[in-house]
Amino acid sequence: MVCYNYNELLRCEAATKQKKAEIEVYILDTKWVKIPAEKADKHVLKEAGEIIQGGGLVAFPTETVYGLGGDAMNPESAKKIYAAKGRPSDNPLIVHICKTEDMEKIVREVPKQAYVLAERFWPGPLTMIMKKADCVPKETTGGLDTVAVRLPDHPVALAFIREAGGFVAAPSANTSGRPSPTLGKYVYEDMNGRIEMILDGGEVGIGVESTIIDLTEDIPVVLRPGYVTWEMLQEVLGEVCLDPTMLEIDCQQAPKAPGMKYRHYAPRGELVIVSGDREKVSDKIGQLLTEKRELGFKTGVIVSKEEEHLYRADSVKVTGDRTDMAAVARNLFRILREFDDENIDCMYVQAFPKDGIGQAVMNRMLKAAGHRIIEV
Ligand code: AMP
Ligand code: MG
Repeated sequence: MVCYNYNELLRCEAATKQKKAEIEVYILDTKWVKIPAEKADKHVLKEAGEIIQGGGLVAFPTETVYGLGGDAMNPESAKKIYAAKGRPSDNPLIVHICKTEDMEKIVREVPKQAYVLAERFWPGPLTMIMKKADCVPKETTGGLDTVAVRLPDHPVALAFIREAGGFVAAPSANTSGRPSPTLGKYVYEDMNGRIEMILDGGEVGIGVESTIIDLTEDIPVVLRPGYVTWEMLQEVLGEVCLDPTMLEIDCQQAPKAPGMKYRHYAPRGELVIVSGDREKVSDKIGQLLTEKRELGFKTGVIVSKEEEHLYRADSVKVTGDRTDMAAVARNLFRILREFDDENIDCMYVQAFPKDGIGQAVMNRMLKAAGHRIIEV
């Protein structure tokens, strides 16, 4: 057994003598370093690179969310990532590179579409699934024969990946199941004592994870929606399918991106989405807030700037203008974590239109809400 933090250590302390003998305790002294994108300290980047090459873990900022990085070519690093996150090891990691041509080193045959997409969207929030080369360990790909590859659009991420040897496996830097971190302090909250270093580049720009597209099928399939939308991908590739599990509420099929089957992004309280005609939605949310407050629950609501005055709740979180879906995406995970900090029990949010970036927002919200949705 491996223990990674103080609470786990206490639980282990209570274990029997024999069990104690099996316990290996790693409580790391996590170094939390501010690294502004405009003047990133070269020494810090070098140190971070050395940690990765030595088999350690470093969290780093990207344009989407914070990543939890390890050496993609080292099976032991992948195991450490799974342990630090408490993530099931059948859930593959994304390999981050710092120059397009490096994908040729980790992919068996790069399909033509990958070059077209890289030209248009890299560096950027797009992950491509392709057949893996033998050099990529199965631990990194969760046992699959395919590998997920991304070239992020963030100067600190790119410089760090270069220092780390060019191939950094990284899922989001949150404890499994929690909202992905959009600020360094949330990485610290989840990863303190579990990893060697956090590169804190401030607040991320996009706020939801990369779009994932599978290029191993005849027709490319979007497995996870993100800032690069289905419409944008169709414009470049022609026909593109959507994984049917992405926005379905009661879909029986297993999603093709293994990670999408797990409970995700969830705040500790109960989040409910209310969908339907705008006025009816506000009435319903207002009624639910009153009912829950009367029962003694702490309530929260996520609203647009225009609707802020409509609700009375213990915590009212504003995402931005009603039509600004990019702001909703950017603020969603931070808001969910703030609700946790404020011990909110019951949270409500209206449903958003599912086109463009709205598709990614609704996909994350449905998971965060455990698919609790009320139609009015
Ligand atoms: P995260 O970076 O935490 O959002 O996790 C990476 C996501 O990429 C998870 O949902 C994985 O299931 C997905 N993923 C990574 N590699 C593959 C792959 N080879 N095939 C399908 N999905 C993948
Ligand atoms: Mg994640």
